[in-house]
Amino acid sequence: MKVYYDQDANLSLLEDKKIAVLGYGSQGHAHALNLKDSGMNVCVGLRKSSASWQEAETAGVAVKEVAEAVKWADVIMVLLPDQTQKSVYRTAIEPNLKAGDTLAFAHGFNIHYKEIVPAKEIDVIMIAPKSPGHLVRRTFQQGNGTPCLIAVEQDYSGKAKEMALAWAKGIGGTRAGVIETTFKNETETDLFGEQAVLCGGSAELIKAGFEVLTEAGYPPELAYFECMHEMKLIVDLYYEGGLSRMNYSVSDTAEYGGMTRGPRVITEASKDAMRQVLKEVQDGSFAKEWIAENEQGQPNLQKLREANRNHTIETVGAELRKMMSWLPKKES
Ligand code: NAD
Ligand code: MG
Repeated sequence: MKVYYDQDANLSLLEDKKIAVLGYGSQGHAHALNLKDSGMNVCVGLRKSSASWQEAETAGVAVKEVAEAVKWADVIMVLLPDQTQKSVYRTAIEPNLKAGDTLAFAHGFNIHYKEIVPAKEIDVIMIAPKSPGHLVRRTFQQGNGTPCLIAVEQDYSGKAKEMALAWAKGIGGTRAGVIETTFKNETETDLFGEQAVLCGGSAELIKAGFEVLTEAGYPPELAYFECMHEMKLIVDLYYEGGLSRMNYSVSDTAEYGGMTRGPRVITEASKDAMRQVLKEVQDGSFAKEWIAENEQGQPNLQKLREANRNHTIETVGAELRKMMSWLPKKES
């Protein structure tokens, strides 16, 4: 598979464009500030009432209301929450797009599930950093980058892919490596990954381990260190050198115990559950459920958040982390 680096991307394609980044959250602030530092003509699009308005201005980026920003710009990156993109698209984006504009996304949800269907005369591209937005900014400032996926859904201009590569370069992605995919593959693998492995699978694994230990009478502080705190140290080893780096670094006892007991915890039944999760992503039933949840004001999400907040691993963890002076107070 071809991996694109700095020399494969041409920033000049973006240099004579007016760029609007809609939203100034996790991804929005990173794209806007990285592009500004790369010398691009960027403005941020927000609601007048937004608390981020002042923050963006203080960081030195021009801010306009969403409709004004879209009207002004030639390239528009939509970094609003996925669940609000459709309504903002209808009211403030679509009426202000002109033929030849580029509409960009950092996740394919709304295009892939046809919540947003842009006119034929619009280029539709994706630049999806494979990292939380705050790291997209931090790594860029350190002179590094985060890997990105790019994709082209509509190529009216004939230059959509080059534009996606230019954007990836402007935010630092081509320093780390960029691969091309489709909106379908990015959306389906992203949703599956976060549900089965990253956010869903890992959180449930941690909680289950913590519960088994505390229910067996071990102190929750001990269970916290074992099942949650140490997880980061192990994951760092995967990140640096894969499974073998982790196995090299832990004791032979841990390696043997892990390789013989791990498959008893994550079994064929767990894989079958993952296959079912994937199927619901592929057939659109997860998307349907999430859209309905939002239409009802996220009642289920609120309930689940509350339950997580009250879990002993959270209350015990909060106390223990107070003593870890090196931890960031909040992700920044
Ligand atoms: P976020 O919730 O952090 O930020 C959203 C921004 O949109 C905020 O500035 C908010 O004020 C603004 N906003 C919300 N509603 C608005 C409205 N009606 N009108 C105008 N502005 C509004 O969102 P995020 O996590 O940065 O996600 C943005 C996109 O990036 C999504 O498509 C997401 O899937 C994608 N993405 C996110 C990450 C991540 O690290 N969070 C990673 C990869 C891709
Ligand atoms: Mg993701």
